[in-house]
This record gives sequence, structure tokens and C-alpha cells, in this order.
Amino acid sequence: MLSKSFYWKLSQTPEPSVKKHCKMCGKISVFTDTNIRRHNANGKNIYQFAIYKCEKNHTWNNKLSIYKTFSEHLVEKEEQKEESSILSSIPISNLAEEGVEVIYIVLDDVKGEHRIDKVLANQIEDWSRTQIIEKIKIGAIQLNGQVAKPSRKLSKGERISIFIH
Ligand SMILES: [Zn+2]
Repeated sequence: MLSKSFYWKLSQTPEPSVKKHCKMCGKISVFTDTNIRRHNANGKNIYQFAIYKCEKNHTWNNKLSIYKTFSEHLVEKEEQKEESSILSSIPISNLAEEGVEVIYIVLDDVKGEHRIDKVLANQIEDWSRTQIIEKIKIGAIQLNGQVAKPSRKLSKGERISIFIH
């Protein structure tokens, strides 16, 4: 069986948009991630924020994580690595044309919470989230060689198998 493997590092990624109350607008507004990140040092901690903006351009700093200062250097290195290893989308149709029958995704690292259905829906453009959920349910997409729930959270070291028919 012809197979192809991908190696993924899942980082803690915030939602692209969040509905929340905007103090400036005085109502619930949709905040969109500007993809701008900021680090604030406060005593021994470093806070990482994602900068979101509402429809009227008001800013909201969404706190992503807190690092201790002693690991500052390490954190910086890790971030550079994450930036250079942006997840590649999986071209299912192209791979199927090449005769690939099974795709393996090895999770080299997982930070934060990632549902299998959401992660795959983000990275597979050829299939909708509904199609992906269906494939997970019928076992055409498996986790560690077994049928898993679409809501299953992924962990480091696990392997997703996608069977292309
Ligand atoms: Zn606003």
C-alpha cells in the first residue's frame, strides 16, 4: 500500500475570531485575531498576548500563555521553530492521483488542546468538516490504528491514518 507521512507540531493556536463583549462598543462584538503577538514582562513572568480587534477596530489583548523568565531564551527559540514549521495543508486529491492510498500524520509535538476533526478540517482543503467527521466515524480516518471520536483531543506521539478510497 502506497503511503505518505507528514510530521506535525501543533502549537497553541487561538481561535481566529471570538465573540465577546466590547467595552468600547458597549455590546457583543466579533473580535478577529490580527496575528500580531506581544510579550509583556511582569516580574518573573512573561505574558504572551494575541492582539484581537473588534469590527470597529477596538483592541483586545487575549492572553495566550505565561512563561517564567528563566525559560525566556528557550521560549524564544521554540517560537522561531514553530514559525518555520507552519503546518502544510494536505493535498488529498493530488496525493490520490499519485496513487497514495494511506496518509500518516505523526504528531511530533502537541501544545494546547486540539480536536482531531478541527485540526484535519483546517489542514485538508479538499474535504469539509462534515466529511471529515463522517470519515472519522466510519474509521476511514483513524487514530493510532483505531476508530476515534471526532471530538478526541490529540496528544504528542500519536499517529493519524487517513485512508483514501
Ligand atoms: Zn468595539
